[in-house]
Amino acid sequence: MSFADLGLSDELLRAVEAAGYSEPTPIQRQAIPSVLMGKDLIGIAQTGTGKTAAFVLPMIDILGEGRTRALMPRSLILEPTRELAAQVAENFEKYGVHHKLSMALLIGGVQMGDQVKALEKGVDVLIATPGRLMDLFGRGKILLTGCSLLVIDEADRMLDMGFIPDIEEICTKLPKNRQTLLFSATMPPVIKKLADKFLNDPKRVEV
Ligand code: AMP
Repeated sequence: MSFADLGLSDELLRAVEAAGYSEPTPIQRQAIPSVLMGKDLIGIAQTGTGKTAAFVLPMIDILGEGRTRALMPRSLILEPTRELAAQVAENFEKYGVHHKLSMALLIGGVQMGDQVKALEKGVDVLIATPGRLMDLFGRGKILLTGCSLLVIDEADRMLDMGFIPDIEEICTKLPKNRQTLLFSATMPPVIKKLADKFLNDPKRVEV
């Protein structure tokens, strides 16, 4: 199976070719068509399996269609650490070169000023760690009611770092009628419960 069989746009196929990928990895093969169809997903996959592209690629195509230039963010990717969030942002820029989507990286350890400015200008995608996102939310700088696509990445690390209560609160601030993708290397009971509560009839992919 090639990338062209997955249902991605020609622009993304060009970006994938430029990245030097010859064929999709197993998680990409199983996840991308289903995400493009709008289904929720549980992806049980470690780092190194190509899972980032498995959610970033379809997200770009979903957002690329029917862009409204709404000021409110349309999608949110949650990462447990600043480093992971920054890596996902790099991936987003690499794959999204042919799309005109805007992104804000909301992580701790840097001043909030630029992040707030980006939010005020309006962005399509937020890539955030839970702490900074909650902080900005508490200051009234973010509205998540327009976020119809949510990715919870590295859920088991979120658990190790004590972020599950924050994630639960963030989930309640997004519209109920949204698409949710959850990735985790393992599925401890707390993560299973989280998925049962916040995902709707998800497809389960394990690699
Ligand atoms: P990830 O599991 O998302 O952290 O990705 C691990 C590494 O695999 C990254 O350096 C990606 O650039 C690379 N990668 C992702 N998809 C593919 C693919 N289809 N073929 C080759 N490398 C890939």
